[in-house]
Amino acid sequence: MTELTQPARVRFAPSPTGHMHLGSARTALYNYLLARQTGGTFILRIEDTDTKRYVPEAEEELFNGLKWLGIDYDEGPGKGGQYGPYRQSERKEIYTKYAEQLVESGHAFYCFCSPEHLAKVREAQQANKESLHYDGTCREIPIEEARTRIVAGERYVIRFKMPKTGSTTVHDHLRGDITVENKVLDDSVLVKSDGWALYHLAAMVDDYLMKITHVIRGSEWLPSLPLHMQIIRAFGWPEPIFIHLSVFLKPSGKGKMSKRETADAMKDGHSIFVKDLEELGYVPEGVVNWTALMGWSYDDHTEFFSLQDLVEKFSIDHLNPSPAAINFTKLDYFNGLHIRNLSDEDLAIRVKPFLETAGYKPSIETLIKIAPILKERLPTLDDVVDMAGFFFKNEISYPAEDLIAKGLDKAQCQQLLVRIQKKLTVLNFFQKDVMEPPLRELVEGSGFSAGQVFGILRVAVTGQKVSPPLFESMEVIGKDVVLNRIHQAIKLLE
Ligand code: GLU
Repeated sequence: MTELTQPARVRFAPSPTGHMHLGSARTALYNYLLARQTGGTFILRIEDTDTKRYVPEAEEELFNGLKWLGIDYDEGPGKGGQYGPYRQSERKEIYTKYAEQLVESGHAFYCFCSPEHLAKVREAQQANKESLHYDGTCREIPIEEARTRIVAGERYVIRFKMPKTGSTTVHDHLRGDITVENKVLDDSVLVKSDGWALYHLAAMVDDYLMKITHVIRGSEWLPSLPLHMQIIRAFGWPEPIFIHLSVFLKPSGKGKMSKRETADAMKDGHSIFVKDLEELGYVPEGVVNWTALMGWSYDDHTEFFSLQDLVEKFSIDHLNPSPAAINFTKLDYFNGLHIRNLSDEDLAIRVKPFLETAGYKPSIETLIKIAPILKERLPTLDDVVDMAGFFFKNEISYPAEDLIAKGLDKAQCQQLLVRIQKKLTVLNFFQKDVMEPPLRELVEGSGFSAGQVFGILRVAVTGQKVSPPLFESMEVIGKDVVLNRIHQAIKLLE
C-alpha cells in the first residue's frame, strides 16, 4: 500500500484538439480524487502548443465538462496560482531555456537535417524493415560549430541525445518496473524549427516547475515514459510517481471505439463524449460513478459512489491496468441509481429544461409533486418528455384503437369507461387511497383483469400505454382534468 503522507500535487493536462471524451473525464477524475483525498492541489494545464490541431471550442468544452462533472481545479487558467501561466502557449521562453540547458549539458543537440534528408533516411529504413529512427547525422556536431551555423541563419531543431548503449528502467505504479534497451529509443525532437517545444519536453518541464508529485495519465503515454524519464534524469530532477491508466475498449471488448461505433452509440442514446451525455439526459453523478469504476474498484461489491464517497474511498493502489470495455448498460444503471437518489426538488429542477425544450411550460410545483413517481422509472432526464409530457398538456391525443384493450371490443371498453367515470365523479377526495378501492371493486365485478381495465383508463388519462403509476398520476392531474379526459375518451369510442 502506498502511504500518502504528503498532499499530492497533480495535474490534468488536456490538449484542446477535440471533444472531451470519457478517457479525459476519467483522467481528470482520478487526479482530482487523489488531490482532494490528500488535501493536495489539482492543477489544470492546457497543453495547446500544437497550433495545427488546436480547436478553440474544445477548450470551452473542457471547462464546461469539468464543471458539469463537479471536478473543480485549484490552479489553472482563469484561477491563477503561483506556478503559472497554466497554458503552454504562454510558456515558450521557459521551454527554450531548459532545452538550451540540455544542449549545454550534452543531453541534447542541434540538428540541421533537412526534411528531404530525413525522408530519405526513413525510406531506406522502411526498405530494410528497420524501425524508424533518427540516423544520428548531427549528434556529434561540436556545439560551437552548431552555434555558428545557427547565427548564419540555418534552420534547426533540438533533439534529445538518447544514450546508445545500456538500458532505461522506469517505474509505473500499476505495472512495476519496465526496462527497455536504449538502442531502441530514438533521438526525439524536443524543440521544433519554429522554436516551439514539443509535448515531451514541455510536459516534463512543467511537471517539474509545478512540483507535480503524481502523473496520472492515459496509457497511450506509457511508450514515451523511457524518454520522459531520460529527460527528467538528464536534469537531475525528482521523479514523480507515474500512473498510466487502462485503455478503454468498445462494448464488445474487441478494440477501441471507431468513429462509426461512436456514431452508432449516439443513435442508441449513448455517447463517449461528456457534452453529449449531458444533452442525452445523464446526470453527472451517474457518469462520475460509472467512469470511476472503469479502471478502479473499492471492493468486489460496492458500486454506488457519490463524488464525496470517491474522495474518501479512492486509492491509487486499487487501480486496474487491464483494458476496460465501455459498458453503456452500466451507465444507464448508474444513472437510474443516482436519479433515484436526488431530492424531489433537485430532480424537478433538472428535468424542467428538457420539458421546456420540448415545448412544455411545466411549473416547478407540479414537477416536485410528480418527482417521486418519476424517479422510479426515469432512465435519463430527457425521458421525462415521453413519460410525463401528458401532465403538462391541455389536450392529449392518441388513436382511438389505443383505448381498446386486448380481448375486449369497442363497446365493452366504452362501457367500462362510463362505469369508471361514475365511480370517480362521486368522490369528494381525489387521492390514490380514495380512488383505488372503488376502482378495484369495479374490476372485480367486471369479469376483466386489472391490466385490461386500468390499461384503458391509463390511455384515457395519459394518452400513453406506458406511464408513471396511474393513481398517483391521476392525483396530480386532478379530478376535473381526469374526468374531462375520460369524457373525451368515451366520445372518441363512439
Ligand atoms: N496533453 C496530453 C494529452 O492530452 C497530456 C498527457 C499527460 O498527461 O502527460 O494526452
